[in-house]
Amino acid sequence: DAKQHGRGSFIDVNLAWVEMVKQRAQLCQQLEHAIEQHELFFYFQPKYNALTHQPASAEALIRWKLNNEFIPPSTFIPLAEQSHLMPEIDRFVIEKSCETIRFWLNQGLTVLPISINLSSRYLFDDKTISYIFEKVGEYDVPAHLLEIEVTEYGLIEDFESTALNMRKLQKAGIKVAIDDYGTGHSNLQTILILPIEHLKIDQSFIRLGMTDKKGQLVLENILQLAKSLEVEITAEGVETAEQLAFLAKAGCHYIQGYYFSKPLSQLDFEQLLAQLPQVGV
Ligand code: C2E
Ligand code: MG
Ligand code: MG
Ligand code: MG
Repeated sequence: DAKQHGRGSFIDVNLAWVEMVKQRAQLCQQLEHAIEQHELFFYFQPKYNALTHQPASAEALIRWKLNNEFIPPSTFIPLAEQSHLMPEIDRFVIEKSCETIRFWLNQGLTVLPISINLSSRYLFDDKTISYIFEKVGEYDVPAHLLEIEVTEYGLIEDFESTALNMRKLQKAGIKVAIDDYGTGHSNLQTILILPIEHLKIDQSFIRLGMTDKKGQLVLENILQLAKSLEVEITAEGVETAEQLAFLAKAGCHYIQGYYFSKPLSQLDFEQLLAQLPQVGV
């Protein structure tokens, strides 16, 4: 056999690679099936007002359970991005969030604004925008209850049509937030060119801001910049009282992270909604 020819390790590496490609292809097929069968679902992580500590909005985070095993979005979102599945996930996320908001409203719950994550690569695609408007109309979702989060990656491909599409959404009352702010490759260009209303500072800056003098200066300056530009700002991954105190003092508006709440199952999140003060019907 091959090993007798002294090339065992070469063959092994090849086999491992073939195995990996096979596994990825299989996972991709299962993901496609999961999208079709609506087997993906959301957890909801509330964001809190930095001063009042009251829940102000929430982020819908996608979840996938396959044969009782949990597959994290950090595994399947990149897989989807490398295949043809990302637009389908985006469409699922758009429809599912509208449907869920409508369900809550019909139940008489006080609904917090819900932000969804969309692939930034498709935000400059008119089809994505039309689909958002279509579903918002179909489920009669008040525009201020839906917000969109996109990372800076991919926006750069077409700043102009992205800006145009962002304005269309804003005109309709749907905010767009830049997610993981600071980790992209052109943060200042993003701010300069795009009509941004909301920045979410990546959790790596929150951590650095506590432990590193330079990190603290960068964090304070992002907050200062956001303030000057009158942009809303959310800190991601806030885990400690120390981080909260620092951020509130530095003018950060919203806090998201384990300190206040982990992502909640839909049932648990509905209990949180049920405890909110009633708004005028
Ligand atoms: P993201 O949009 O930046 O979401 C925040 C992530 O940070 C979530 O991870 C959340 O569970 C986690 N997180 C929140 N607070 C803390 C904290 O205090 N400490 C730590 N260590 N982590 C915290 P998750 O749910 O695993 O999502 C990971 C990423 O997957 C998201 O990052 C987002 O980029 C992507 N993602 C999630 N849902 C969707 C979706 O529906 N569509 C798309 N395209 N991407 C999604
Ligand atoms: Mg996000
Ligand atoms: Mg984020
Ligand atoms: Mg992040």
